[in-house]
Amino acid sequence: MVEVEKGMYPDKEELQNIGDKKMVQTYVNKNGYRCFSNSGKQVSRWVAEKKIGRPLQKSEVVHHGSKGKGCNSRSNITVFKSQSEHMRKAHSKR
Ligand SMILES: [Zn+2]
Repeated sequence: MVEVEKGMYPDKEELQNIGDKKMVQTYVNKNGYRCFSNSGKQVSRWVAEKKIGRPLQKSEVVHHGSKGKGCNSRSNITVFKSQSEHMRKAHSKR
């Protein structure tokens, strides 16, 4: 598991900063999402779990807001309970 201080919700820059101290290493996968090197887990899903205070279910979808998928700060991340709800609420045309 990744060891990160309580209350710390890293975005890309913060992750790089704490990387040295905390041995958190990440990479960007082929879909453009940052992942932890040790587990392959998406950083955005990890941040989402911290945000909602419980593990995400497989069916739950993490949506990145206007800052894009490179930004994994809490404020840029929304959890939807399914892909269909994700598409309907976050990607429907206006
Ligand atoms: Zn989305």
